[in-house]
Formats: sequence, structure tokens, C-alpha cells
Amino acid sequence: MRSILFLCFSFLYLLAEAHIFVYHRFDDPRYKSADTTATELTKQFEYFKTNGYTVVPLEKIVQKLHKKEPIPDKWVAFTIDDAYKSFYENGLPIFQKYGYTFSLFVYVEATNKRYGDYMTWDELKEASEYGTIGLHSYGHPRLQNLTPDQIVEDTQKAYDLFTQNLGFEPTIYAYPYGEYDDKVKNTLLENFNFQGILNQNTGSVNIKTDPYDVPRIALVAEVNLEHKLRYTTFAVEWFAPEVFPKDGVLKRIHAKVDPKYKKLKLYITGEGWRDVDVVDGIVDHRLDIYLKNTRTRVMLGPDVFTISNKIINKIKPKEKKDVE
Ligand SMILES: [Zn+2]
Repeated sequence: MRSILFLCFSFLYLLAEAHIFVYHRFDDPRYKSADTTATELTKQFEYFKTNGYTVVPLEKIVQKLHKKEPIPDKWVAFTIDDAYKSFYENGLPIFQKYGYTFSLFVYVEATNKRYGDYMTWDELKEASEYGTIGLHSYGHPRLQNLTPDQIVEDTQKAYDLFTQNLGFEPTIYAYPYGEYDDKVKNTLLENFNFQGILNQNTGSVNIKTDPYDVPRIALVAEVNLEHKLRYTTFAVEWFAPEVFPKDGVLKRIHAKVDPKYKKLKLYITGEGWRDVDVVDGIVDHRLDIYLKNTRTRVMLGPDVFTISNKIINKIKPKEKKDVE
């Protein structure tokens, strides 16, 4: 009997999904598209508080992923990218008021060179009493544009300055702009000992999530939190596209999914949603689309909330310094 009960509960846990959110700026009207107002943040925190969500440190989720342990439902974790001054001034007091912990990812060059808009090392040290601090690169580059040596160089520089100034080593990393590919991921894994690496692909976290490829849902401007919490990750093994096509023309969507599906929905940036057929667990959809955007999101899933993301970015020789 006990084992049957255990099996039932295990099954429930297998379906359980945690959500990790990413914020950028707080109460900073100069940057509306990256901003969360104090009113909006308070509204979101009230929602989590009154609807039975448990706010946990990101590391707790990452540890479970390494141990391949089920993740309890209704767990949420908060992350903040770039360590803007506005987090220290306007966000942190609200996190403290609710007793909600967070992981803050430092853009090391900006902090180290004391760019006015960013937290200082002292402010980061103070914030580390309420949350954890992770790495968000040295120069905030588009990592896909760099060679493996350059990726190592940027990360090592960030790692050393972080450790010297804060007195502890970073164990978690978030990609600048959420952009990465296999080369970027493998370079970080082969050269550094991060426990968790985070992207910015919309989705949930469950027992199958790779701790080195953890999805986060962006919460900026006004959001419908109930919608965001409905997002769950759909299991897809992607074959194509792998990278941004050289000629800019997307010709094939090729992926492996659960064979129980006969039809799925496919989303492509600039194109919207379309239905695609699944034959024996394989999606093989031919198309001929010129990709106008430098960043294209391809999503596949049985419905718009149950999805797998594939983001392909055009490699640009020159980068623009707009931090995200
Ligand atoms: Zn960033």
C-alpha cells in the first residue's frame, strides 16, 4: 500500500514544474521595456504569497536537477540580471519586505568600472546577505560571436574580479542577452565549474531539465502572471534549425517528440503560429522563410503554453552595447 501511495505521489511530482523568473530594472521609467515598477512587483509578490507558491533559492532547484530529484510544484525562484542600481534602490527593499530570496547576476565590467547605473561591489556584498550573487560575464558580450578562447578570457576575468571583490566564488552563470549555442555552453562547461547555467528561454523546470540549460521567464513591464505560470516545457529533441542559416533562409524544422502527438503547433518569429504534422514522433516540416530579425525564436508544442524554444541568432561582426 505504501509503495502504491509512493508511486502515486512520485507520479504527481514527475508532472510538477517550477518556474524561474528574470527581472532587469526596477522602478526606472527611462527603460520601460526592461522595467518592473514597484507597484507591479508588489502585485506579483502578493500573488505568489496568496496563491500558495514557495519562493526558493535558485541553488535549491539546481541541486535537485543534479540529483535528478523531482521538483515540488509551485516552487518559484527569482533572478535579476545585470545588477542595476535600481535593483539596490527600488527592488531589494520589496524583496526584503516579503522575505523573498533572489539570485543576482553581475555584469562585472560595469560594476568594476563603477558605471553609474550599476551596483558597486559594496552594494553587491550587502545584497549577498539576502540572496546569492552569480556571474553574468565580464564585458556583456554576445558570446556566440566569440571564439572559445575569447569566451574563456571574458569569463576568467569576470570570475577573478568577482572572487577578489566579494570574497567567494560564483557558482551560477547567466548568459548575456540569454544568447548561447553549443559552442558557448561547452566552452563554459569544459573550463569552469559552474553548478548552474541559465538561459532566457520561456519554460518551466522539471526533473528532466539540464542544470546547465535552465529556462527563465522574463517579467518586465506589466505581465499576466497567471499566463506566465501556465508555461511548461515540452520535451523536444531538436535537429534543425541548429544555428542561424548562413543565407538567412529557414528551410527546415526537424525534431523528435513524444510519438503520441499527431499534430503540434509551430511558432516562428515574424510568422506566428502554424500547425505541423508529426509522423511516428518526428516533425519534419519544410519551409522557405527569409528571417528578417537577427534573433529568431522557434517554438514547438501541443499548445501555446506547453512549448520548447529554439533561439537562433545571427552572428554579427559588430555588437551594439545595449544591455539586456
Ligand atoms: Zn544582461
